[in-house]
Amino acid sequence: MYDYLVVGSGLFGSVFACEANKKGKKVLVIDKRPNIAGNVYTQEIEGINVHLYGAHIFHTNLKHVWEYVNYFAEFNRFTNSPVANYYGELYSLPFNMYTFNKMWGVVAPEEAAAKIEEQKQKAGITEPKNLEEQAIALVGTDIYEKLIKGYTEKQWGRPCNELPAFIIKRLPVRLTFDNNYFNALYQGIPVGGYTQMVANMLQDIEVQLNVDYLENKADLDKLAGKVVYTGSVDAYFDYQLGALEYRSVRFENEVLNKANFQGNAAVNYTDSETPWTRIIEHKWFEFGKDKNGNDLPKTVISREYSSEWNTGEEPYYPVNDEKNSKLYAEYKVLAEKESKIIFGGRLGEYKYYDMDAVIDSALKLAEKVLV
Ligand SMILES: Cc1cc2nc3c(=O)[nH]c(=O)nc-3n(C[C@H](O)[C@H](O)[C@H](O)COP(=O)(O)OP(=O)(O)OC[C@H]3O[C@@H](n4cnc5c(N)ncnc54)[C@H](O)[C@@H]3O)c2cc1C
Repeated sequence: MYDYLVVGSGLFGSVFACEANKKGKKVLVIDKRPNIAGNVYTQEIEGINVHLYGAHIFHTNLKHVWEYVNYFAEFNRFTNSPVANYYGELYSLPFNMYTFNKMWGVVAPEEAAAKIEEQKQKAGITEPKNLEEQAIALVGTDIYEKLIKGYTEKQWGRPCNELPAFIIKRLPVRLTFDNNYFNALYQGIPVGGYTQMVANMLQDIEVQLNVDYLENKADLDKLAGKVVYTGSVDAYFDYQLGALEYRSVRFENEVLNKANFQGNAAVNYTDSETPWTRIIEHKWFEFGKDKNGNDLPKTVISREYSSEWNTGEEPYYPVNDEKNSKLYAEYKVLAEKESKIIFGGRLGEYKYYDMDAVIDSALKLAEKVLV
């Protein structure tokens, strides 16, 4: 009945389905969730597009991907400039001249560079044995203590001196006044939300929601010649080799009866006492305006808590350590033997993909298999 059954309506599945449809293939997209768009799903609450699975900022250096997404949505000029809150002291991120001026009162770039160098020398770390030593060796003690330590410990649930040094390979330090977090040529948020963008990709394609592929695999497989599967690879094989591990995030969303809570889309809490890692105020992704350009009277915030992940919970970040990489390699061998199924996306390949990379990967697959 169908040329392709696409399991998952996230970016990977939707881009592939769209390309297959363009080539005249008959496509059915299913998703176990009650909505399309996977983790980039946004829901309108009080006129605000709320990123329910974590804040998503589109940024890319890939011109063809930027042109591709702009076909499905108009992007605004949002630039990610998070603020760090350390016990009420506010600092600009990523580390740049605004940060150093606030931290030490320095004005010239060479004064900032000298201050960092002085602290690095004083710490005298030549061979960092853990993340704490690695961070101090890269940026000195003040930045480490105020802007890295607490945040990183909350993210990983362990003290920095018990975390491996390799987690932080480099820490970008800018000796310019530049608060733009991403070094990307193109950046923005789709006007009207990501869900609408994905709905535009899936226009003219049959989509069935609340359908779990793994619970109905035998029947669903009969419907199509090929299956593109973007769910978890270990779940597909019924965890026969063991479960791949993830880091998870818990979100607490709140509607506030005020127009402005923190004046910025993202504020990171870098002290170790505040239990959340950051607060997202969603309206600032679209400059505080509703779809008609009017100021919004209310606001929606999400507190993010980094947490351990247990099997069955929503998987967020793959843990790419040795143990999990080895386990994934074993699942990959099994996956390659499944002649009818193509595994793709962040769960199917157990890989942290930014949105642009997952779109690029789906486009490459489409180019390879669609004739
Ligand atoms: C907290 C967080 C923040 C992020 N922020 C950014 C950012 O700012 N910028 C950026 O570029 N990237 C960001 N990303 C990455 C981005 O989310 C991914 O690149 C993208 O969502 C991956 O798309 P996907 O289609 O591979 O997976 P998903 O979006 O997870 O889609 C997979 C879909 O498959 C469905 N599915 C799974 N199993 C089954 C089954 N058995 N049956 C039916 N359906 C099934 C799921 O319900 C889901 O809808 C972030 C990721 C996280 C975790």
